[in-house]
Amino acid sequence: MSDYKLLINGQLVDGDATLDVVNPATEAVFATCARASKGQLDQAVAAAQAAFPAWSATPLADRKAVLVKIADAIQGNINELARLLVQEQGKPLQDAMGEIFGASAFFRYFSTLDLAAKVVQDDATGRVEVRRKPLGVVGCIVPWNFPMILMAFKVPAALLAGNTVIVKPAPTTPLTALKLGEIIKDIVPAGVVNIIVDANDLGGEMTKHPGIRKISFTGSTETGKKVMASAADALKRVSLELGGNDALIVLDDVDLNATAPKVLGAAMQNAGQVCIAAKRIYVHESMYDAMCDELARLANEIVVGDGLEQGTQMGPLQNKQQFDKVMGFIESARKDGRVIAGGGRKGDKGYFIQPTIVRDIEDGSKLVDEEQFGPVMPVIKYTDPADALARANASIYGLGGSIWAKDTERAWNLAEGMESGSVWVNKHADLQPHLPFGGAKFSGVGSELGEEGLKEFTQIQVLNMAR
Ligand code: NAD
Repeated sequence: MSDYKLLINGQLVDGDATLDVVNPATEAVFATCARASKGQLDQAVAAAQAAFPAWSATPLADRKAVLVKIADAIQGNINELARLLVQEQGKPLQDAMGEIFGASAFFRYFSTLDLAAKVVQDDATGRVEVRRKPLGVVGCIVPWNFPMILMAFKVPAALLAGNTVIVKPAPTTPLTALKLGEIIKDIVPAGVVNIIVDANDLGGEMTKHPGIRKISFTGSTETGKKVMASAADALKRVSLELGGNDALIVLDDVDLNATAPKVLGAAMQNAGQVCIAAKRIYVHESMYDAMCDELARLANEIVVGDGLEQGTQMGPLQNKQQFDKVMGFIESARKDGRVIAGGGRKGDKGYFIQPTIVRDIEDGSKLVDEEQFGPVMPVIKYTDPADALARANASIYGLGGSIWAKDTERAWNLAEGMESGSVWVNKHADLQPHLPFGGAKFSGVGSELGEEGLKEFTQIQVLNMAR
Protein backbone atom coordinates (compact mmCIF):
# COMPACT_ATOMS: atom_id res chain seq x y z
CA MET A 1 0.00 0.00 0.00
CA SER A 2 1.24 3.46 -0.79
CA ASP A 3 -0.10 7.02 -0.77
CA TYR A 4 0.80 7.39 -4.42
CA LYS A 5 -1.14 5.07 -6.69
CA LEU A 6 -1.24 4.31 -10.38
CA LEU A 7 -4.19 5.47 -12.48
CA ILE A 8 -5.44 2.59 -14.59
CA ASN A 9 -8.88 2.52 -16.20
CA GLY A 10 -10.16 5.34 -14.00
CA GLN A 11 -9.10 3.61 -10.78
CA LEU A 12 -6.29 4.49 -8.37
CA VAL A 13 -4.54 1.19 -7.81
CA ASP A 14 -1.52 -0.11 -5.95
CA GLY A 15 1.37 -1.34 -8.02
CA ASP A 16 2.43 -4.96 -8.10
CA ALA A 17 5.61 -3.56 -6.51
CA THR A 18 6.65 -0.31 -4.84
CA LEU A 19 9.34 2.24 -5.52
CA ASP A 20 11.26 4.41 -3.03
CA VAL A 21 11.64 8.05 -3.94
CA VAL A 22 14.72 9.98 -2.78
CA ASN A 23 14.80 13.69 -2.00
CA PRO A 24 17.98 14.84 -3.80
CA ALA A 25 18.52 17.63 -1.25
CA THR A 26 18.78 15.16 1.65
CA GLU A 27 19.56 11.83 -0.08
CA ALA A 28 16.83 10.34 2.14
CA VAL A 29 13.86 8.28 0.96
CA PHE A 30 10.87 10.50 1.68
CA ALA A 31 8.07 8.62 -0.06
CA THR A 32 7.18 5.25 -1.49
CA CYS A 33 4.94 4.95 -4.50
CA ALA A 34 3.26 2.30 -6.59
CA ARG A 35 5.37 0.66 -9.29
CA ALA A 36 3.64 -1.07 -12.19
CA SER A 37 4.40 -4.55 -13.48
CA LYS A 38 4.38 -5.50 -17.16
CA GLY A 39 0.91 -6.95 -16.51
CA GLN A 40 -0.28 -3.58 -15.22
CA LEU A 41 1.15 -1.85 -18.29
CA ASP A 42 -0.91 -4.29 -20.37
CA GLN A 43 -4.00 -3.44 -18.31
CA ALA A 44 -3.38 0.28 -18.87
CA VAL A 45 -3.00 -0.24 -22.62
CA ALA A 46 -6.17 -2.37 -22.74
CA ALA A 47 -8.06 0.33 -20.82
CA ALA A 48 -6.78 3.04 -23.16
CA GLN A 49 -7.75 0.96 -26.20
CA ALA A 50 -11.22 0.36 -24.80
CA ALA A 51 -11.68 4.07 -24.06
CA PHE A 52 -10.48 5.19 -27.49
CA PRO A 53 -13.66 4.76 -29.61
CA ALA A 54 -15.84 6.83 -27.28
CA TRP A 55 -13.19 9.48 -26.57
CA SER A 56 -12.28 9.96 -30.22
CA ALA A 57 -16.00 10.31 -31.03
CA THR A 58 -16.53 12.84 -28.24
CA PRO A 59 -17.22 16.28 -29.77
CA LEU A 60 -14.15 18.50 -29.85
CA ALA A 61 -15.90 21.08 -27.63
CA ASP A 62 -16.37 18.44 -24.91
CA ARG A 63 -12.75 17.31 -25.15
CA LYS A 64 -11.71 20.95 -24.80
CA ALA A 65 -13.90 21.28 -21.72
CA VAL A 66 -12.06 18.35 -20.12
CA LEU A 67 -8.70 20.04 -20.81
CA VAL A 68 -9.94 23.22 -19.14
CA LYS A 69 -11.10 21.22 -16.12
CA ILE A 70 -7.68 19.56 -15.87
CA ALA A 71 -6.01 23.00 -16.13
CA ASP A 72 -8.24 24.30 -13.33
CA ALA A 73 -7.56 21.23 -11.19
CA ILE A 74 -3.78 21.60 -11.58
CA GLN A 75 -4.02 25.27 -10.68
CA GLY A 76 -6.28 24.50 -7.74
CA ASN A 77 -3.66 22.11 -6.34
CA ILE A 78 -0.64 24.23 -7.21
CA ASN A 79 0.74 24.51 -3.68
CA GLU A 80 0.68 20.79 -2.96
CA LEU A 81 2.00 19.86 -6.40
CA ALA A 82 4.80 22.44 -6.21
CA ARG A 83 6.02 21.26 -2.78
CA LEU A 84 5.99 17.68 -4.00
CA LEU A 85 7.92 18.69 -7.11
CA VAL A 86 10.59 20.38 -4.98
CA GLN A 87 10.97 17.27 -2.85
CA GLU A 88 11.27 14.83 -5.72
CA GLN A 89 13.09 17.00 -8.25
CA GLY A 90 15.10 19.46 -6.13
CA LYS A 91 14.30 22.79 -7.80
CA PRO A 92 13.55 25.91 -5.73
CA LEU A 93 9.92 26.35 -4.70
CA GLN A 94 9.33 29.45 -6.84
CA ASP A 95 10.56 27.55 -9.92
CA ALA A 96 8.34 24.59 -9.01
CA MET A 97 5.37 26.94 -8.72
CA GLY A 98 6.24 28.28 -12.17
CA GLU A 99 6.43 24.78 -13.60
CA ILE A 100 3.06 23.72 -12.19
CA PHE A 101 1.46 26.95 -13.34
CA GLY A 102 3.01 26.40 -16.77
CA ALA A 103 1.61 22.87 -16.95
CA SER A 104 -1.85 24.20 -16.24
CA ALA A 105 -1.38 26.95 -18.85
CA PHE A 106 -0.34 24.39 -21.47
CA PHE A 107 -3.55 22.38 -20.92
CA ARG A 108 -5.48 25.64 -21.25
CA TYR A 109 -3.61 26.58 -24.43
CA PHE A 110 -4.41 23.31 -26.20
CA SER A 111 -8.08 23.76 -25.26
CA THR A 112 -8.09 26.79 -27.60
CA LEU A 113 -6.93 24.93 -30.72
CA ASP A 114 -9.06 23.41 -33.45
CA LEU A 115 -8.52 20.56 -35.83
CA ALA A 116 -10.92 21.59 -38.55
CA ALA A 117 -10.90 19.69 -41.83
CA LYS A 118 -9.27 21.62 -44.68
CA VAL A 119 -11.54 21.80 -47.72
CA VAL A 120 -9.23 21.55 -50.74
CA GLN A 121 -11.94 21.29 -53.39
CA ASP A 122 -15.71 21.75 -53.36
CA ASP A 123 -17.21 22.20 -56.81
CA ALA A 124 -19.39 20.53 -59.41
CA THR A 125 -16.87 17.74 -60.01
CA GLY A 126 -16.24 16.76 -56.41
CA ARG A 127 -15.30 17.50 -52.83
CA VAL A 128 -11.91 16.88 -51.22
CA GLU A 129 -11.11 17.37 -47.54
CA VAL A 130 -7.87 16.85 -45.62
CA ARG A 131 -8.84 15.63 -42.20
CA ARG A 132 -6.90 14.94 -39.03
CA LYS A 133 -7.78 11.71 -37.27
CA PRO A 134 -6.41 10.52 -33.90
CA LEU A 135 -3.88 7.70 -33.86
CA GLY A 136 -5.15 5.57 -30.97
CA VAL A 137 -3.22 4.96 -27.76
CA VAL A 138 -0.25 7.28 -27.25
CA GLY A 139 2.60 6.50 -24.84
CA CYS A 140 4.04 9.64 -23.22
CA ILE A 141 7.50 9.08 -21.74
CA VAL A 142 8.85 11.92 -19.61
CA PRO A 143 12.30 12.64 -18.05
CA TRP A 144 13.15 13.90 -14.55
CA ASN A 145 14.22 17.50 -15.14
CA PHE A 146 10.72 18.98 -15.69
CA PRO A 147 8.29 16.17 -14.82
CA MET A 148 5.14 18.29 -15.02
CA ILE A 149 5.70 20.75 -17.81
CA LEU A 150 7.12 18.13 -20.18
CA MET A 151 4.12 15.91 -19.48
CA ALA A 152 1.99 18.94 -20.41
CA PHE A 153 3.77 19.25 -23.79
CA LYS A 154 2.24 15.90 -24.68
CA VAL A 155 -0.93 14.93 -22.85
CA PRO A 156 -3.26 17.86 -23.71
CA ALA A 157 -2.27 17.73 -27.39
CA ALA A 158 -2.80 13.97 -27.54
CA LEU A 159 -6.18 14.24 -25.81
CA LEU A 160 -7.43 17.16 -27.87
CA ALA A 161 -6.67 15.21 -31.04
CA GLY A 162 -8.83 12.36 -29.71
CA ASN A 163 -6.16 9.91 -28.56
CA THR A 164 -6.04 8.14 -25.22
CA VAL A 165 -2.77 8.07 -23.28
CA ILE A 166 -0.43 6.15 -21.04
CA VAL A 167 1.87 8.51 -19.12
CA LYS A 168 5.16 7.24 -17.72
CA PRO A 169 7.29 9.64 -15.67
CA ALA A 170 10.95 8.97 -14.89
CA PRO A 171 11.51 6.59 -11.97
CA THR A 172 13.23 9.24 -9.86
CA THR A 173 10.38 11.79 -10.23
CA PRO A 174 7.12 9.80 -10.24
CA LEU A 175 5.14 11.56 -7.52
CA THR A 176 3.76 14.68 -9.20
CA ALA A 177 2.52 12.54 -12.08
CA LEU A 178 0.78 10.14 -9.69
CA LYS A 179 -0.67 13.06 -7.73
CA LEU A 180 -2.00 14.41 -11.01
CA GLY A 181 -3.74 11.08 -11.55
CA GLU A 182 -5.47 11.46 -8.21
CA ILE A 183 -6.53 15.01 -9.08
CA ILE A 184 -7.97 14.23 -12.53
CA LYS A 185 -9.40 10.78 -11.83
CA ASP A 186 -12.99 12.03 -11.76
CA ILE A 187 -12.56 14.61 -14.52
CA VAL A 188 -11.42 12.31 -17.31
CA PRO A 189 -13.48 9.31 -18.51
CA ALA A 190 -12.04 5.96 -17.35
CA GLY A 191 -9.14 4.74 -19.47
CA VAL A 192 -8.58 8.02 -21.34
CA VAL A 193 -5.57 8.91 -19.18
CA ASN A 194 -3.57 6.16 -17.49
CA ILE A 195 -0.49 6.89 -15.39
CA ILE A 196 2.05 4.21 -14.54
CA VAL A 197 5.46 4.22 -12.86
CA ASP A 198 8.40 1.94 -13.56
CA ALA A 199 11.96 1.41 -12.43
CA ASN A 200 13.40 2.09 -15.91
CA ASP A 201 12.02 -1.27 -17.08
CA LEU A 202 8.73 -0.40 -18.81
CA GLY A 203 9.83 2.32 -21.27
CA GLY A 204 11.14 -0.33 -23.65
CA GLU A 205 8.00 -2.40 -23.17
CA MET A 206 5.89 0.62 -24.11
CA THR A 207 7.88 1.35 -27.25
CA LYS A 208 7.41 -2.17 -28.57
CA HIS A 209 3.86 -2.66 -27.27
CA PRO A 210 1.53 -3.58 -30.17
CA GLY A 211 -1.39 -1.76 -28.53
CA ILE A 212 0.34 1.63 -28.54
CA ARG A 213 0.29 3.57 -31.84
CA LYS A 214 2.62 6.45 -31.02
CA ILE A 215 5.41 7.20 -28.58
CA SER A 216 5.95 10.80 -27.60
CA PHE A 217 9.34 10.68 -25.91
CA THR A 218 11.45 13.27 -24.11
CA GLY A 219 14.81 12.19 -22.79
CA SER A 220 18.39 11.55 -23.78
CA THR A 221 19.60 11.01 -27.33
CA GLU A 222 20.89 7.54 -26.47
CA THR A 223 17.49 6.39 -25.17
CA GLY A 224 15.78 8.16 -28.08
CA LYS A 225 17.68 5.94 -30.52
CA LYS A 226 16.46 2.86 -28.65
CA VAL A 227 12.88 4.17 -28.78
CA MET A 228 13.11 4.63 -32.54
CA ALA A 229 14.59 1.19 -33.07
CA SER A 230 12.07 -0.68 -31.00
CA ALA A 231 9.12 1.29 -32.41
CA ALA A 232 10.05 0.09 -35.89
CA ASP A 233 8.54 -3.35 -35.58
CA ALA A 234 4.99 -2.08 -35.14
CA LEU A 235 5.67 0.96 -37.37
CA LYS A 236 4.74 3.12 -34.44
CA ARG A 237 4.83 6.92 -34.86
CA VAL A 238 7.53 8.54 -32.74
CA SER A 239 8.28 12.06 -31.75
CA LEU A 240 11.58 12.47 -29.99
CA GLU A 241 12.67 15.48 -27.94
CA LEU A 242 16.27 14.67 -27.11
CA GLY A 243 19.49 16.09 -25.77
CA GLY A 244 21.12 19.36 -26.74
CA ASN A 245 24.35 21.29 -26.51
CA ASP A 246 23.10 24.82 -27.11
CA ALA A 247 25.69 27.41 -28.09
CA LEU A 248 25.28 30.98 -26.89
CA ILE A 249 27.31 33.52 -28.89
CA VAL A 250 28.02 36.95 -27.42
CA LEU A 251 28.96 39.52 -30.10
CA ASP A 252 31.39 42.35 -29.40
CA ASP A 253 28.89 45.20 -29.01
CA VAL A 254 26.81 43.99 -26.02
CA ASP A 255 26.46 45.84 -22.74
CA LEU A 256 28.51 43.47 -20.62
CA ASN A 257 26.92 44.22 -17.25
CA ALA A 258 23.39 43.87 -18.58
CA THR A 259 24.17 40.71 -20.55
CA ALA A 260 26.23 38.67 -18.08
CA PRO A 261 23.38 37.89 -15.63
CA LYS A 262 21.16 36.75 -18.49
CA VAL A 263 23.88 34.53 -19.90
CA LEU A 264 24.44 32.98 -16.50
CA GLY A 265 20.70 32.42 -16.05
CA ALA A 266 20.51 30.73 -19.45
CA ALA A 267 23.08 28.19 -18.31
CA MET A 268 22.24 27.71 -14.63
CA GLN A 269 18.45 27.50 -14.54
CA ASN A 270 17.25 24.26 -12.92
CA ALA A 271 20.90 23.62 -11.94
CA GLY A 272 21.72 23.38 -15.64
CA GLN A 273 19.37 20.43 -16.11
CA VAL A 274 17.50 21.96 -19.02
CA CYS A 275 17.55 20.49 -22.52
CA ILE A 276 17.78 24.04 -23.90
CA ALA A 277 20.18 25.43 -21.31
CA ALA A 278 23.07 27.39 -22.80
CA LYS A 279 25.80 24.75 -22.59
CA ARG A 280 28.66 26.44 -24.49
CA ILE A 281 29.28 30.20 -24.21
CA TYR A 282 31.28 31.83 -27.03
CA VAL A 283 32.52 35.33 -26.12
CA HIS A 284 34.34 37.78 -28.39
CA GLU A 285 38.00 38.27 -27.51
CA SER A 286 37.53 42.03 -26.93
CA MET A 287 35.50 41.38 -23.78
CA TYR A 288 36.49 37.80 -22.94
CA ASP A 289 38.43 38.56 -19.73
CA ALA A 290 35.88 41.03 -18.42
CA MET A 291 32.96 38.70 -19.21
CA CYS A 292 34.66 35.73 -17.52
CA ASP A 293 35.31 37.83 -14.41
CA GLU A 294 31.72 39.02 -14.24
CA LEU A 295 30.26 35.54 -14.81
CA ALA A 296 32.48 34.16 -12.04
CA ARG A 297 31.47 36.95 -9.67
CA LEU A 298 27.77 36.35 -10.33
CA ALA A 299 28.11 32.55 -10.12
CA ASN A 300 29.65 32.86 -6.66
CA GLU A 301 26.59 34.82 -5.52
CA ILE A 302 24.06 32.10 -6.45
CA VAL A 303 22.45 30.69 -3.30
CA VAL A 304 22.55 26.88 -3.55
CA GLY A 305 20.41 24.87 -1.15
CA ASP A 306 17.28 22.87 -0.40
CA GLY A 307 14.54 24.09 -2.70
CA LEU A 308 12.11 24.38 0.21
CA GLU A 309 14.37 26.84 2.05
CA GLN A 310 13.55 30.46 1.49
CA GLY A 311 16.13 32.28 -0.58
CA THR A 312 17.39 29.21 -2.43
CA GLN A 313 18.18 30.03 -6.05
CA MET A 314 19.60 26.69 -7.16
CA GLY A 315 18.77 23.22 -5.92
CA PRO A 316 20.72 19.95 -6.13
CA LEU A 317 21.25 17.74 -9.16
CA GLN A 318 18.23 15.50 -9.43
CA ASN A 319 19.84 12.12 -8.84
CA LYS A 320 23.09 10.45 -7.86
CA GLN A 321 23.87 9.25 -11.37
CA GLN A 322 23.60 12.76 -12.79
CA PHE A 323 25.58 14.20 -9.86
CA ASP A 324 28.44 11.76 -10.54
CA LYS A 325 28.30 12.50 -14.25
CA VAL A 326 28.55 16.26 -13.74
CA MET A 327 31.39 15.85 -11.21
CA GLY A 328 33.19 13.90 -13.96
CA PHE A 329 32.70 16.85 -16.34
CA ILE A 330 34.29 19.16 -13.76
CA GLU A 331 37.28 16.85 -13.37
CA SER A 332 37.84 16.78 -17.13
CA ALA A 333 37.45 20.57 -17.30
CA ARG A 334 40.24 21.04 -14.77
CA LYS A 335 42.61 19.45 -17.29
CA ASP A 336 41.20 21.27 -20.31
CA GLY A 337 40.63 24.77 -18.89
CA ARG A 338 40.77 27.02 -15.83
CA VAL A 339 38.04 26.84 -13.19
CA ILE A 340 37.31 30.40 -12.00
CA ALA A 341 34.17 29.80 -9.92
CA GLY A 342 32.84 26.79 -8.03
CA GLY A 343 34.51 23.56 -9.06
CA GLY A 344 33.11 20.98 -6.71
CA ARG A 345 30.43 19.58 -4.50
CA LYS A 346 28.68 21.85 -2.02
CA GLY A 347 28.40 20.36 1.47
CA ASP A 348 28.50 16.65 2.17
CA LYS A 349 24.82 15.78 2.02
CA GLY A 350 22.56 16.14 -1.00
CA TYR A 351 23.55 16.21 -4.66
CA PHE A 352 24.61 19.86 -4.61
CA ILE A 353 27.22 21.20 -7.01
CA GLN A 354 28.62 24.73 -6.88
CA PRO A 355 27.83 26.87 -9.92
CA THR A 356 31.02 26.42 -11.91
CA ILE A 357 32.62 28.61 -14.58
CA VAL A 358 35.49 27.32 -16.72
CA ARG A 359 37.55 29.62 -18.95
CA ASP A 360 40.45 29.08 -21.39
CA ILE A 361 38.76 25.96 -22.68
CA GLU A 362 38.42 25.00 -26.34
CA ASP A 363 36.22 23.03 -28.68
CA GLY A 364 37.33 19.43 -28.68
CA SER A 365 37.22 19.16 -24.88
CA LYS A 366 34.57 17.03 -23.18
CA LEU A 367 32.85 19.94 -21.42
CA VAL A 368 32.42 21.84 -24.70
CA ASP A 369 31.55 18.95 -27.01
CA GLU A 370 29.22 16.88 -24.82
CA GLU A 371 26.02 17.64 -22.95
CA GLN A 372 26.94 18.32 -19.29
CA PHE A 373 23.34 18.81 -18.07
CA GLY A 374 24.52 20.49 -14.88
CA PRO A 375 25.68 23.85 -13.46
CA VAL A 376 29.05 23.90 -15.21
CA MET A 377 29.60 26.55 -17.88
CA PRO A 378 32.48 26.58 -20.37
CA VAL A 379 33.37 30.05 -21.71
CA ILE A 380 35.20 29.92 -25.04
CA LYS A 381 37.04 32.80 -26.75
CA TYR A 382 36.51 33.62 -30.42
CA THR A 383 37.75 36.28 -32.84
CA ASP A 384 35.48 36.02 -35.88
CA PRO A 385 31.67 35.63 -35.44
CA ALA A 386 31.47 33.46 -38.56
CA ASP A 387 34.01 31.11 -36.98
CA ALA A 388 32.04 31.07 -33.70
CA LEU A 389 28.93 30.11 -35.67
CA ALA A 390 30.81 27.35 -37.50
CA ARG A 391 32.00 25.98 -34.15
CA ALA A 392 28.47 26.22 -32.75
CA ASN A 393 27.24 24.18 -35.71
CA ALA A 394 30.02 21.59 -35.47
CA SER A 395 27.95 19.46 -33.11
CA ILE A 396 25.76 16.42 -33.47
CA TYR A 397 23.11 18.36 -31.52
CA GLY A 398 20.78 21.07 -32.82
CA LEU A 399 18.18 21.82 -30.19
CA GLY A 400 18.51 25.56 -29.45
CA GLY A 401 21.02 28.38 -29.57
CA SER A 402 21.26 32.14 -29.23
CA ILE A 403 23.06 35.24 -30.47
CA TRP A 404 23.45 38.31 -28.25
CA ALA A 405 24.15 41.77 -29.70
CA LYS A 406 23.15 45.42 -29.66
CA ASP A 407 23.03 45.39 -33.46
CA THR A 408 20.01 43.12 -33.76
CA GLU A 409 20.11 42.99 -37.56
CA ARG A 410 23.62 41.56 -37.45
CA ALA A 411 22.51 39.08 -34.78
CA TRP A 412 19.40 38.08 -36.77
CA ASN A 413 21.47 37.37 -39.88
CA LEU A 414 23.89 35.23 -37.91
CA ALA A 415 21.00 33.47 -36.15
CA GLU A 416 19.62 32.34 -39.51
CA GLY A 417 22.73 30.23 -39.97
CA MET A 418 22.42 28.37 -36.71
CA GLU A 419 21.60 24.69 -37.25
CA SER A 420 19.06 24.22 -34.49
CA GLY A 421 15.32 23.92 -34.04
CA SER A 422 15.01 27.13 -32.01
CA VAL A 423 17.29 30.16 -32.25
CA TRP A 424 16.86 33.15 -29.99
CA VAL A 425 18.29 36.66 -30.25
CA ASN A 426 19.08 38.48 -26.99
CA LYS A 427 17.32 35.79 -24.98
CA HIS A 428 17.60 32.04 -24.53
CA ALA A 429 15.22 29.15 -23.86
CA ASP A 430 12.05 31.15 -24.46
CA LEU A 431 9.47 28.37 -24.78
CA GLN A 432 5.88 29.28 -25.55
CA PRO A 433 2.95 26.89 -25.94
CA HIS A 434 2.00 28.32 -29.35
CA LEU A 435 5.51 27.97 -30.83
CA PRO A 436 6.56 24.60 -32.24
CA PHE A 437 9.56 23.19 -30.42
CA GLY A 438 11.83 20.46 -31.74
CA GLY A 439 15.41 19.53 -32.42
CA ALA A 440 17.56 19.36 -35.53
CA LYS A 441 20.15 16.61 -36.08
CA PHE A 442 20.58 14.32 -33.03
CA SER A 443 18.34 16.52 -30.87
CA GLY A 444 15.13 15.02 -32.08
CA VAL A 445 12.53 13.95 -34.58
CA GLY A 446 9.34 15.96 -35.05
CA SER A 447 8.11 18.75 -32.83
CA GLU A 448 5.81 19.49 -29.93
CA LEU A 449 3.66 22.50 -29.02
CA GLY A 450 1.82 24.85 -31.31
CA GLU A 451 -0.45 23.72 -34.11
CA GLU A 452 2.43 21.78 -35.65
CA GLY A 453 2.93 19.83 -32.43
CA LEU A 454 -0.78 19.07 -32.21
CA LYS A 455 -0.80 17.68 -35.75
CA GLU A 456 1.89 15.15 -34.77
CA PHE A 457 -0.74 13.40 -32.69
CA THR A 458 -2.89 12.86 -35.78
CA GLN A 459 -3.05 10.82 -38.94
CA ILE A 460 -3.98 12.55 -42.20
CA GLN A 461 -7.10 11.27 -43.93
CA VAL A 462 -7.88 12.64 -47.39
CA LEU A 463 -11.58 12.28 -48.09
CA ASN A 464 -11.99 12.55 -51.87
CA MET A 465 -15.38 12.33 -53.61
CA ALA A 466 -16.46 12.61 -57.25
CA ARG A 467 -19.77 14.28 -58.06
P1 NAD B 1 16.52 9.19 -20.21
O1 NAD B 1 16.59 9.01 -21.66
O2 NAD B 1 17.44 8.42 -19.34
O3 NAD B 1 15.06 8.89 -19.64
C1 NAD B 1 13.90 9.52 -20.15
C2 NAD B 1 12.71 8.61 -19.95
O4 NAD B 1 12.87 7.44 -20.77
C3 NAD B 1 12.50 8.10 -18.53
O5 NAD B 1 11.11 8.11 -18.26
C4 NAD B 1 13.03 6.68 -18.61
O6 NAD B 1 12.46 5.81 -17.63
C5 NAD B 1 12.62 6.28 -20.00
N1 NAD B 1 13.38 5.14 -20.56
C6 NAD B 1 14.52 4.57 -20.12
N2 NAD B 1 14.89 3.56 -20.94
C7 NAD B 1 13.97 3.50 -21.94
C8 NAD B 1 13.82 2.69 -23.11
N3 NAD B 1 14.70 1.75 -23.43
N4 NAD B 1 12.77 2.95 -23.89
C9 NAD B 1 11.87 3.91 -23.62
N5 NAD B 1 11.96 4.71 -22.52
C10 NAD B 1 13.00 4.50 -21.69
O7 NAD B 1 16.70 10.76 -19.99
P2 NAD B 1 16.90 11.54 -18.65
O8 NAD B 1 18.28 11.32 -18.18
O9 NAD B 1 15.75 11.24 -17.74
O10 NAD B 1 16.72 13.06 -19.14
C11 NAD B 1 17.77 13.89 -19.47
C12 NAD B 1 17.92 14.01 -20.96
O11 NAD B 1 16.68 14.43 -21.53
C13 NAD B 1 18.93 15.05 -21.41
O12 NAD B 1 19.69 14.55 -22.47
C14 NAD B 1 18.07 16.20 -21.88
O13 NAD B 1 18.70 17.07 -22.79
C15 NAD B 1 16.92 15.49 -22.46
N6 NAD B 1 15.75 16.37 -22.50
C16 NAD B 1 15.30 16.78 -23.72
C17 NAD B 1 14.23 17.65 -23.80
C18 NAD B 1 13.69 18.13 -25.11
O14 NAD B 1 12.58 18.63 -25.16
N7 NAD B 1 14.43 18.01 -26.20
C19 NAD B 1 13.62 18.10 -22.63
C20 NAD B 1 14.12 17.66 -21.41
C21 NAD B 1 15.18 16.78 -21.36
